[in-house]
Amino acid sequence: MGTILLAVEGVNVRLSGSLSAVEEFKIIIESVLSLPSSLVHYKDSTSSSPSLPRFLVKIKKELIGMGMPSADPSLAPSPAQHISPEDLHSMLTSSTSDVVLLDTRNDYELKMGTFKSAHHFDISTFRDFPASAKSSPLPKSDKIVMFCTGGIRCEKAAFAMEAAGYPSSSLYQLDGGILNYFEKVSPDASRETYEGGCFVFDDRVVVDVEGKTVKGVRVCFRCRWPLSGGEVEAMGGEDRVIKCEKCGEEDMLNCEGRKRKRNY
Ligand SMILES: [Zn+2]
Repeated sequence: MGTILLAVEGVNVRLSGSLSAVEEFKIIIESVLSLPSSLVHYKDSTSSSPSLPRFLVKIKKELIGMGMPSADPSLAPSPAQHISPEDLHSMLTSSTSDVVLLDTRNDYELKMGTFKSAHHFDISTFRDFPASAKSSPLPKSDKIVMFCTGGIRCEKAAFAMEAAGYPSSSLYQLDGGILNYFEKVSPDASRETYEGGCFVFDDRVVVDVEGKTVKGVRVCFRCRWPLSGGEVEAMGGEDRVIKCEKCGEEDMLNCEGRKRKRNY
């Protein structure tokens, strides 16, 4: 199962299957796209059950919509310098650290975990990132390290930061994102710098610093806002239709409205 997104700026493939089937598919992808394996970056993790429900191939204008046509990684490389997870970890744990971390992800992802010292723009969609970068209070002289789930969004976010006046010489992006950090930095070391897990866009919902699925997390069936195991428990457990507080309240209001209608 999986999703393949094809765009001029690149290809994004998410696959879920047995190890041998996934490995076989990787070879097919590289041969169909005529890409050397050095240009294809994989982030593997294990799960006890299939994490994607269907197989889809989509042709898209942008791999990840930011609504800024000039930010096209296929025309120019990201203006930010890549930084490895190991180097970022050393920087963050150094007593002389002068790094400002910027989470480029959305509010519902942040809820399930992020780097302890990370700043964010409090956005609910990546399309708001360019405008938020323009009004960002982060000083232009800061050394900013951006990060996201797998490193793809930062390829674009860097253009938005540069357009907002942040000099490319002080912009960095975490290579391979949080998932690569979890892979390359040991779980104990990751816990020093990172709080919680990483939201992923499949049925696992959240993975921890060991790359394992965090049990009990569900998403609101209406808006896909993630709910922790404790929150799900408080709502009566996994067997119920799970709705976040906001959607629950909206339903209540709708019910009230219907009741009023009936009474008059
Ligand atoms: Zn909801």
